[in-house]
Amino acid sequence: MTRRRNGNGSHQLLDITDKFRRGELKLVKVLEDAGYLSEKERVAYVDSIRRSVAQKRSSEVLATAHSLHNKLIRVLQTTKNDGSRRESQELEVLMEVSRLIQTTTRQEEGFERLLDLIKGVIPYENATMFTLNRASGQLVVGAVRGQVVDLIGGVQFEFGTGFSSWVAKQKKPILLNELHRNASPDAPQIGSFLSVPLVVQQELIGVLNLSHPTNQAFTEESLRLLTLIAGQAAAILQRIVMYEEMARLAITDELTGLYNRRHFMERMNHEVARAKRHQQPFSILFFDLDHFKRINDTCGHPLGDRILADLGKLMRRWARGTDLLARYGGEEFVAFLPMTDSTQALIAAERIRSAVEEHSFPRRKRLTVSVGIATYPEDGDQPADLLKKADLALYQAKKLGRNRTMALSLGAA
Ligand code: GH3
Ligand code: MG
Ligand code: MG
Repeated sequence: MTRRRNGNGSHQLLDITDKFRRGELKLVKVLEDAGYLSEKERVAYVDSIRRSVAQKRSSEVLATAHSLHNKLIRVLQTTKNDGSRRESQELEVLMEVSRLIQTTTRQEEGFERLLDLIKGVIPYENATMFTLNRASGQLVVGAVRGQVVDLIGGVQFEFGTGFSSWVAKQKKPILLNELHRNASPDAPQIGSFLSVPLVVQQELIGVLNLSHPTNQAFTEESLRLLTLIAGQAAAILQRIVMYEEMARLAITDELTGLYNRRHFMERMNHEVARAKRHQQPFSILFFDLDHFKRINDTCGHPLGDRILADLGKLMRRWARGTDLLARYGGEEFVAFLPMTDSTQALIAAERIRSAVEEHSFPRRKRLTVSVGIATYPEDGDQPADLLKKADLALYQAKKLGRNRTMALSLGAA
């Protein structure tokens, strides 16, 4: 049987890699402009970013992204010792912001630590970080220190209510030093207010607000520093999101949302080792849609794709949480069922086989699937060998007339 590989060249991944490249280039430019990177260092980065993106495999792009970031941190660390460049406190903060990405896995935690960090260089009473919720298009509170502060809270703008929404719309910072808002039971006193947008590549990510009870608490220098921090923070936060997305895409088959073949093989090898250690049985199931070529030939490839995506959903509902499920290639799927002997595997396979038979696919198409099963220990104990056996069983199921399950050790269902 011929198998097509899929997963690696997905459009989503290309998009995100491109975004990653543009984000990195921008960050490097900001650092160079601010005097933290030399011309030579910049050229070296730009070069490695371009090379990393030219790689085809998402896992390699991801690995390069991480190593690039580590390099950047090292440069910033060496820069720290070079007193000739900039005020050390400012550098310290920017470096800390960079470090956040390595230690933070949750966004909110990153935001909170960022707010604490800012307090060290720009003393404030209240700080609020708003983030843009992409689904709703509105600003939501991402992190707070003190109380949530926003001016003109009753006024509606494109991104929600209040001053931060105005800043979000304008994508420009604002410094107000002569405010006379007195404290009330539900609102703090505000004498000074500073608000900057978090923007990466013209894309709004959020807004950062600081307030202080006294007038003239913030200076033009606070504004400049906060803008610099916000730029760095926005780039980093965007990268956290991108890393997560890249990591997810690297293991997912785009069409069906199931694991891709490479990830399945990796995970299966671990699972096999574990099952053997605990002397537990497991089964490997191969699925191949029957006469799928006819669907493409009579109804076109796009409908074929929709049917495959629909089948992915059906299979997800069928699988248990501990099962591994992947699109192996084209219209072939594979499942690893831990703690499942051949009899149990046959029952499970028959369940999904009849579910497919009874399912109405897009445009009311009817389809059937053939299944091959191999089980540890009776059919072998090496992953490659068991996969081959399951494939052989599948081939027999096809030969016997399709729409059936075949287990090597048990025969056809
Ligand atoms: P059978 O398996 O029952 O022997 O017949 P078949 O027609 O399904 O034959 P085979 O498995 O050899 O061919 C698989 C066909 O599936 C070939 C191709 O037209 C189609 N196919 C493979 N991958 C995709 C895909 O990603 N999208 C679509 N729409 N079709 C695909
Ligand atoms: Mg096939
Ligand atoms: Mg087929």
